[in-house]
Amino acid sequence: MKHIFLTALFAFPLISNASIKIEEELYLPDQNPEVVKELALTGSVIIDHVGSQGFELYGETGLKSYLDQKGILYFDMKDLNNKVFADFPTHADLTKKLQAAVAKLPGKMKLFSIGKSGMGQELWVVKISDNVETDETEPEFKYISSMHGDEIVGRELTTNLIEEIADKYGKDKTITDLVDNTELFIMPSMNPDGSKLKQRANAAGVDLNRNYPDWSAGATNSAAAVAIENKAIMALHDARQFALSANFHGGSIVVNYPWDATYDRHPMDAFIQELSSVYADLNPEMRNSSEFHGGITNGADWYVVKGGMQDWSYFYHNDLQVTIELSHTKYPSYSDIPGFWSSNRDSMYAYMKQVHRGAGFKLGRAAVTGTVAIKQTSPVAKDMGSYSFKNSEFYKVLPEGEYEYTVTEKNGTPKSLTVRVEENVIRSNGNYVSLK
Ligand code: ZN
Repeated sequence: MKHIFLTALFAFPLISNASIKIEEELYLPDQNPEVVKELALTGSVIIDHVGSQGFELYGETGLKSYLDQKGILYFDMKDLNNKVFADFPTHADLTKKLQAAVAKLPGKMKLFSIGKSGMGQELWVVKISDNVETDETEPEFKYISSMHGDEIVGRELTTNLIEEIADKYGKDKTITDLVDNTELFIMPSMNPDGSKLKQRANAAGVDLNRNYPDWSAGATNSAAAVAIENKAIMALHDARQFALSANFHGGSIVVNYPWDATYDRHPMDAFIQELSSVYADLNPEMRNSSEFHGGITNGADWYVVKGGMQDWSYFYHNDLQVTIELSHTKYPSYSDIPGFWSSNRDSMYAYMKQVHRGAGFKLGRAAVTGTVAIKQTSPVAKDMGSYSFKNSEFYKVLPEGEYEYTVTEKNGTPKSLTVRVEENVIRSNGNYVSLK
């Protein structure tokens, strides 16, 4: 088997992962992990969701016939998807649901589009906050789902979340506190064309989660060469100050945390594992996973992804992001969605609350840029690094403790402030210090 795959490597051009056009979507059962690794390193195919049962293989036209010639067993995922898609809501149905939810909570929920997909479908985002039309000084949190069009469970769960917040605001304390003191952004369908076409990639065949500037290759943060849907996300990040995010996928059940692109540990590795466990611990199937200890995994340890959204958002925007796999089957039966909602609902709220585990500052004057150096002073002394800020605002999620922020405006003199970060507290309007 190994020999066959090594031959296969030379049958496909060695091009970078980001430029592969996905034309064939396959599932290969029972494969040798070493072969998987070698294939991944060539960059000529995209491999995903490597599991004990097999793995997904994506590539250009010719991949299937090559495997046919070699007598290698695979399943065509398009055939599988076509069978089960029929019951799921369309993009038009989703739009109506979001409009109806937002109409229930005027002034606190708004639906807006950050652009159009390749096929002209709106890229909807719902913003939820107590004064939704105002950009308040509150921590900013984001959920995005279904950047892989056929990984659909998260689209339904994020929609359920929006609907429940609309129904329970003012009645449920956790929900009310979250809405009043946070700016929440929820995007159920980042790749509506992929969902419509029942495929992973966007309409142009681009894998959106291999398409971001690759920090590990020293890329500059330019949107020039990225897919239209990713351009919209990059522009949203430029306009906001997200501190914590997650993006939902399907094909396994696990929280995958950065880095994806390198085996090196993330500078906040222990804290990221803790945040990932907040989600996994409240989902019994995830927590009790036989495949991933505690239902969480380092991204690269599972399989290396370059150009993924989660690495990009932290490296370029200080937005800590994890990738959450919700279901073994990407497109389960639509009647299974309530079960997935009940096993993920508490996790979704608990993870959102974690954005209050952090501290920031806001300057009284507009459009100030600069840098902030962060030192932990208690319970241990530790250098936490230096970060740039824009739009007069900065906020970072951090482990519990006391910190010294040294803020230096562009062409200004440094100012120091002390902040405390606590666990399980939703602070009124977040934990911000006002600076002159
Ligand atoms: Zn995915």
